[in-house]
Amino acid sequence: MAEPILEVSGLVKHYPLTRGVLFRRQVGAVKAVDGVDFTLGRGETLGVVGESGCGKSTVAKLLCSLERPTAGTIRFKGEDITRLSGKALKAVRRNIQMVFQDPYTSLNPRMTVGDIVGEPYDIHPEAAPKGDRRRRVRELLDVVGLDPEYVNRYPHQFSGGQRQRIGIARGLALRPEVIVADEPVSALDVSVQAQVINLLDRLQAEFDLSYVFIAHDLSLVRHIADRVAVMYLGRIVETGRESEIYDHPTHPYTQALLSAVPVPDPEAREHRERIILSGDVPSPTDVPSGCRFRTRCWKARERCAREVPALAVPEDFRAAPGPAAHPSACHFAADEQAGRRAQSQLNGNGPG
Ligand code: ADP
Ligand code: MG
Repeated sequence: MAEPILEVSGLVKHYPLTRGVLFRRQVGAVKAVDGVDFTLGRGETLGVVGESGCGKSTVAKLLCSLERPTAGTIRFKGEDITRLSGKALKAVRRNIQMVFQDPYTSLNPRMTVGDIVGEPYDIHPEAAPKGDRRRRVRELLDVVGLDPEYVNRYPHQFSGGQRQRIGIARGLALRPEVIVADEPVSALDVSVQAQVINLLDRLQAEFDLSYVFIAHDLSLVRHIADRVAVMYLGRIVETGRESEIYDHPTHPYTQALLSAVPVPDPEAREHRERIILSGDVPSPTDVPSGCRFRTRCWKARERCAREVPALAVPEDFRAAPGPAAHPSACHFAADEQAGRRAQSQLNGNGPG
């Protein structure tokens, strides 16, 4: 792998859960992020996927220093950035920029496009000499495929896809090294999603960017991610190269997410078993014991309630390196047979 640009270790973010107004008492914690480890290589794209409420946006905010973690470290080019303040924090924030999910609400409707894209220079005046800003803003619009003549228009005069281009231009203004894109295309029409993803892809090569690309849908990440991390209830449950995750998922949660991805080929569709997840993601204030996915898992056995599965390459695969030999936090990741049997019973086909 390329030299790491971000190294995340033991990352935790718990929000206090309080009761009462006069006497605020802490009665628990929302475990939004609950022990996350990953590495992002320079020039690489890590796709982070998982259902809504799994803690993806919280990870994004922690990476961009918009929130401070409860525990854990985030190393940017070797330096832990979680305890920085003042000038050093500001310098790091310049280098790790966020592109937000919703281009409809993340752009101030009263500001012109030129002011929106140039706003980072107000916060970081050292990044661009005052006389140079207009020229830079026009160049940024050009870079993201918008007509520089639009600088004086307002967000409502643009389509959803164009608005996200404006958000991307703003994200690039300070020439960051890392971009954290939090569901950047989820609010867009399917027809526009690919255009924005292609733009991000092109910009990555052009500006030597490293991406953390967050999505709730595995199919969106496939084309852009080199590696994928699947999150469930505040933790990464499976991670590996793009092809390992899509072609050889070993965690039941990943298998369920993949079975929901539309398959264009009708023959392949015919042969695929659909896994319907029962129930919702449990509340992060009340995380199940042992494996946190067990309450919705068709493979779950008694051991799963007792033992927290570590995110590691399953023992059975360690001796034989292949696409299935990637980290998976399931006690039965290597137990394909058991998985198939349980799944076909679940689907009402009897023991298979
Ligand atoms: P995702 O982006 O995967 O949908 P989030 O990171 O937004 O997930 O949220 C994870 C969990 O943390 C959710 O249950 C959410 O309600 C909770 N959460 C997020 N931000 C806060 C906050 N500021 N205070 C309390 N709980 C929060
Ligand atoms: Mg989110």
